[in-house]
Amino acid sequence: LAIRRDMKPFGPPRVNRGLNTRQAMTVICWFRRVLRLDDHPALAAAAKNGAVIALAILDPADAAAHPASAQRQAMALPPLDAGLRARGSRLIVRRGDPATVLAQVVRDSGAVAVHTSQGLPFAGDDGLQAAVAGAGAVLHVHPLADLVPRGSVLTGSGTRFKVFTPFWRALRRTPIAEPLPAPRLTAPPAWPASDGPDWPEARRAMDRGWDVVARHVRAGEDAALDQLEAFLNRITARYAEGRNRPADDDATSGLSDALAVGEISARRIWHRAMAAQQDGQGGIEDFLRELAWRDFARDLFHASPNIDRTCWRPEWNDFPWRGDGPDAEAWRRGRTGIAMVDAGMRELFATGRMHNRVRMIAASFLVKHLMIDWRVGLDWFARCLTDWDAANNAMNWQWVAGCGPDASPFFRVFNPDTQGTKFDARRRYRDLWLDPDAVGAQEFADAAPRSWRVDPHDRLAPMVDLDTGRQRALDAYGRFKRRD
Ligand code: FAD
Repeated sequence: LAIRRDMKPFGPPRVNRGLNTRQAMTVICWFRRVLRLDDHPALAAAAKNGAVIALAILDPADAAAHPASAQRQAMALPPLDAGLRARGSRLIVRRGDPATVLAQVVRDSGAVAVHTSQGLPFAGDDGLQAAVAGAGAVLHVHPLADLVPRGSVLTGSGTRFKVFTPFWRALRRTPIAEPLPAPRLTAPPAWPASDGPDWPEARRAMDRGWDVVARHVRAGEDAALDQLEAFLNRITARYAEGRNRPADDDATSGLSDALAVGEISARRIWHRAMAAQQDGQGGIEDFLRELAWRDFARDLFHASPNIDRTCWRPEWNDFPWRGDGPDAEAWRRGRTGIAMVDAGMRELFATGRMHNRVRMIAASFLVKHLMIDWRVGLDWFARCLTDWDAANNAMNWQWVAGCGPDASPFFRVFNPDTQGTKFDARRRYRDLWLDPDAVGAQEFADAAPRSWRVDPHDRLAPMVDLDTGRQRALDAYGRFKRRD
């Protein structure tokens, strides 16, 4: 491999004698929320570039803000290490601030380059570039293996889509690149020290015992592929309707946490699903359409990196939402007295997951019936979800709050009780999490911190009358619209 000119400024490349140039050059691949060997553009590039040090970084800031997601990432590391060892490599794990860790591992290993994937939000790699360059190497940031490259699916006039359905139609006409195979890896002449996959900061940051949540996780690249196969074998033409029923857990793929930590790529899912569709499997088109929401969210985040902090429609930053406080705390603890909301919030706390329909119901209740700022809810979901994804979480919270793109109009206020009657007619979901003798209610009681003093036999009165809450929201919306 010719020594790339751009490596010259840091003096002659560090070539280890006795190996050919490619093998002799050591490069680092930072597995940055892409915890797999399959369809991994940064790893494929690193493998072409030299002997690879596979590095995972456990960032304390990530653990503090997103403990469930951090723990979910930590669970992905042992299977990833096993996959690397099967290829004569291994996973080096370091805890700390990414820029500091990268510079240290470059210095420890004499690596000439670091390859990694785009982070979310997409901005902000300058500190990394400087730290890696300061240690004498070059940082290469590669696109994620999403369905389409960011900003590549545009309207006829070349602008970004602001509404999902036309985005979906344009994406559907776009050829989706084939997934990359897992590359052959050359081991470096020496391995830097590794901290191992344990992540005490993440466990300490958890608001509840991780072991309860871990029961609901199937970690690892192989497990994700198995889960995909199992789903494609059971999906039917009724997926679009079945995916709305929270008690029918098997109606959807359950792949969001594997996608969020990067154990499987969207492209791998797309191509396997297309093959299943060609074999006559029903429901695939609707499933691919849901998968495309994830790319739509990434495109929005790429165009507006602050949509997890400010309203995508700026005028909504003046909307009179209330701040955090006792009402928000009752919502977080599943103690609103509204069955579908409380069931969902308890599922979230006990398992790190929450059914999509229930996420919509619980989020709508917070921002409309309680008139509490959507960012309060977004932050709680970011702490508790094992499938936390910065782009998906931001887009969906803004969709529910009415301030995002293609948003559900604010005046369309979900009624949690009628939603329950419609989507959980036999109360299987609500009973699972609210009936004191049910397994879900017990899991929640086990997971909840002692300070919450959860008594499964509690009978809670609704904290707000649903009609009163709805009218209050509509009145506030009316005043807001007339404010000019
Ligand atoms: P399936 O129906 O099997 O769909 C397959 C994949 O498509 C999902 O894994 C997911 O990657 C994608 N997808 C499906 N629905 C959506 C959607 N509405 N938006 C974006 N992508 C979607 N999803 C996350 O992955 N992380 C989050 O942090 C997140 N926060 C949310 C917050 C709120 C308020 C709401 C209403 C939704 C949020 N979602 C989030 C979207 C959705 O709830 C989950 O993706 C879905 O429940 C995952 O279940 P599944 O994998 O079985 O989905």
